[in-house]
Amino acid sequence: FPRYLSDFHEIERIGNGNFSCVFKVLNRIDGCMYAVKRSTKQLQKDIERRKALMEVQAMASLGSHQNIVRYYTSWFEDDHLYIQMELCEHSLSMSQSSKSYTEEEVLEALHQIAKALQYMHGRGIAHLDVKPDNIYVVDGIYKLGDFGCSSLLDKSLPIEEGDARYMPQEILNEQYDHLEKVDIFSLGVTIYELVRGSALPESGNNFMNLREGKMPLLPGHSMPFQNLLKVMMDPDPVRRPCANDIVKHPIFDRLGGSSKIK
Ligand code: ATP
Ligand code: MG
Ligand code: MG
Repeated sequence: FPRYLSDFHEIERIGNGNFSCVFKVLNRIDGCMYAVKRSTKQLQKDIERRKALMEVQAMASLGSHQNIVRYYTSWFEDDHLYIQMELCEHSLSMSQSSKSYTEEEVLEALHQIAKALQYMHGRGIAHLDVKPDNIYVVDGIYKLGDFGCSSLLDKSLPIEEGDARYMPQEILNEQYDHLEKVDIFSLGVTIYELVRGSALPESGNNFMNLREGKMPLLPGHSMPFQNLLKVMMDPDPVRRPCANDIVKHPIFDRLGGSSKIK
């Protein structure tokens, strides 16, 4: 019977992705608010179902980390996949606000999302769609969400590339040898955009420069910070630091507060 309608009261639509709609809902049984993501397409083919299942399996196995959007449950209904997860009111999406962040603020975001990646990569999963839209903030805690492009590092399923604006050159060339380093590049671009305070254009010099390892300087920002971003976006994936190197980087010694918790 229709579980979505019987168990949830739909408050409003809060997101429209390429493959899904996301609703803010009240669970009638426990009285709490959640986000429910529903696939737009009916998943009838086996390969479509398997890829959709990769998203929930990634969320389910990672969702207990504080820097990853929490997962509750999922089910199929009329060939659509529903995913019930933590409701996150704010994202870092550049289209929603054009706030520019201070170096301290982005260092906090960088440290916390690097911890999420360290955790994922340690469990053999790459995210492959790291970008401001897919990072949420809940009570000062940054959380990585949208595992719709996630892949096992052993590439047992075909790769679904994330947003091309955040992808390194090797992915555009279909070279998938260092998938975890794709996330490092995308996180570098993400942080660069947040500091810059506006989204980089979809094409043009700025992006080419970043992909070619020629990062335009960020006036007023410290050299250690800029050097870290630059090496994260190195064209050679082998030279990029791994998530663990970033988490342990001395640049974060100057942060206080929540980043010291975990
Ligand atoms: P795309 O791949 O195009 O980025 P998608 O179909 O994979 O999109 P999501 O990014 O997961 O879908 O969700 C679409 C939008 O819904 C998000 O950009 C965001 O605005 C909103 N959203 C998703 N998950 C949540 C959540 N847990 N809490 C609040 N809003 C959310
Ligand atoms: Mg998304
Ligand atoms: Mg997605």
